[in-house]
Amino acid sequence: MVGGGFGGLYAARALASRPVRVTLLDRRNHHLFQPLLYQVATAALNASDIAAPLRSVLRRARNVTVLLAEVVRVDLAARRLALDRGEIGYDALILAAGAGHSYFGHEDWEVFAPGLKSLEDALEIRRRVLSAYESAEREPDGAEQRALLTFVVVGGGPTGVELAGALAEISRQTIARDFRVIDPTKARIILLEGGDRVLASFPEALSRRAQDALQRIGVEVRTRANVTRVTADAVWLGGEQVRARTVLWAAGVAAAPLTRTLGVTLDRSGRVPVEPDLSIPGHPEAFAIGDMSVCRDRTGAPLPGLAPVAMQQGSRAADNALRRLSGQPTRPFRYRDRGTMATIGRAAAVAVVGGVQLSGLVAWLAWLFVHIMFLIGFRNRFLVLFEWAWAYLSWQRGARLITRPWRSRD
Ligand SMILES: Cc1cc2nc3c(=O)[nH]c(=O)nc-3n(C[C@H](O)[C@H](O)[C@H](O)COP(=O)(O)OP(=O)(O)OC[C@H]3O[C@@H](n4cnc5c(N)ncnc54)[C@H](O)[C@@H]3O)c2cc1C
Repeated sequence: MVGGGFGGLYAARALASRPVRVTLLDRRNHHLFQPLLYQVATAALNASDIAAPLRSVLRRARNVTVLLAEVVRVDLAARRLALDRGEIGYDALILAAGAGHSYFGHEDWEVFAPGLKSLEDALEIRRRVLSAYESAEREPDGAEQRALLTFVVVGGGPTGVELAGALAEISRQTIARDFRVIDPTKARIILLEGGDRVLASFPEALSRRAQDALQRIGVEVRTRANVTRVTADAVWLGGEQVRARTVLWAAGVAAAPLTRTLGVTLDRSGRVPVEPDLSIPGHPEAFAIGDMSVCRDRTGAPLPGLAPVAMQQGSRAADNALRRLSGQPTRPFRYRDRGTMATIGRAAAVAVVGGVQLSGLVAWLAWLFVHIMFLIGFRNRFLVLFEWAWAYLSWQRGARLITRPWRSRD
């Protein structure tokens, strides 16, 4: 099994105590609860609050071995995986290596506009944001100071909306009175979305409410804004230059590069189109799940890249792998959609649950409940809830506002 994210972990749990020997390979030694990454990036939570060691999560699964290893190549024909050191064979394979950022062919932008996918990303974003305020406080040049106090988020999906909302609240509330030269409340937070509306995967009415809520807390939302260039101190929209020292990328997703070693046809995002039972076409013993794969529902629409999709697929792939090994027919995967939600800031969110559209505080409470309940293997689940609620309600982010010395991006 490759990957201890949502898909891999649920597959491993489904195989615990079953009559098979399972090896779970991950290049990191922890499971990461990505939906709370932006709270780490914006100093509301500590890194350790949202990461759990895979070994301890799977301690009781005696038939599961966890190995810290990077899989560099998959040989589907020979049923072998090449690792950073050595190789390993398999009878059945579950690939759940997730996805990373896509800069749509402009990988050189990454250094100026980091995305949010790992703990390292979150800590780097936190460092850049806090360092920008510190540098602005010492900057004598007015134009440069404005660039330091301009934060651009590219991409108006859930991650971009959440990041922009949290950045606005940091400037308007958390550190509003902490500086003497600059006025943090005057910082510009700009959210750029290439399409017609933010949160395009939500119903239009909720997109509008999300946009209104963002504007109320001071985010400048610009739709149909296509980024054509990113440099160390600016974002370009065609001929228009927006000077900004901090640019964050929340615009594109690409499947884990591992998919390119499979030798099967991939979609435009590098994802593996899978059979209804989640197996890789032509390889019934190998399954691909979660963000690295694309699975269609009964209407032919691709399932979204969400944690519940990966979790449910993990359980189905595990069951199908067992069925395959014991000579039984596999079963098709059916997604049970229990809703989608996105937060906009303190006590505001939008959600669609069971076909019902929610917004404002009710949606935020629903968001809070769901995300805390699904924190995997965290014994301190309620402590995390308390920490985070306290950071929100008191506007205090305490020690997490400490940053390392400024490092130039140039
Ligand atoms: C900032 C952010 C916020 C999000 N918010 C939400 C939300 O609110 N609700 C929601 O439902 N979803 C949310 N998502 C999406 C959700 O996190 C993903 O859909 C989910 O993590 C996909 O699970 P996965 O198992 O496919 O991949 P992942 O959880 O990404 O796990 C992939 C694992 O594979 C490992 N790996 C990758 N390549 C290799 C390799 N070559 N060798 C070994 N190991 C490898 C990685 O280390 C990782 O542990 C969010 C995502 C992000 C980035």
